[in-house]
Amino acid sequence: MSMRIGYGFDSHAFKPGVPLIIGGLPIEHTEGLAGHSDGDVLLHAITDALLGAVSAGDIGTFFPPSDPRWKGAASHIFLQTALEEVATAGFKIVNVDTVLVLAKPKIVPIAGELRERVAELLGVKPGEVGIKAKTPEGLNQDHVAVAHATVLLESVRLTDAPVQMVATADVDDEINEVVKGLVGEGSRDVSALGRKRPAFDTDDLT
Ligand SMILES: [Zn+2]
Repeated sequence: MSMRIGYGFDSHAFKPGVPLIIGGLPIEHTEGLAGHSDGDVLLHAITDALLGAVSAGDIGTFFPPSDPRWKGAASHIFLQTALEEVATAGFKIVNVDTVLVLAKPKIVPIAGELRERVAELLGVKPGEVGIKAKTPEGLNQDHVAVAHATVLLESVRLTDAPVQMVATADVDDEINEVVKGLVGEGSRDVSALGRKRPAFDTDDLT
């Protein structure tokens, strides 16, 4: 079983007159986060961590700020795309850990709710998500929200494949050969980035 690690970072300035959304959760506060999308600093950092873990570029690769389609977009759309990239590459999430750095609002009272919301969006258990919050002591960044995220991925064991047909197979390579036979050799090409191309048309999933 192979594992991958990914790291993501993001920051957004606070701005009056916009709703505050962190981790997909609307939060009561006097200001929100400025950005081309909804400014969800936490989901952006997690999205970059997931994409980085499978060498699939970053959030700007998929959703350039110059594209008007993403103006005011809900950031779980970005996260969903990253999750599809992870699945396509043959991996799943082991756990996600994050740090939020912001002066206000206080995260502790909503940390449990935030963790559950992020877990729901990631399709994992709340116990597989870490949310930690710090105030930016000595950084002179009281009007900025910063997020760091780390993800650990593991390769998906093909337990649903007819592994019993190759009961002697004790290495992933042999299982992969069976899968190639099932889905067709040509459809499992590896991209220049070393990622497996999708064996299905992702548009069909929407
Ligand atoms: Zn961002």
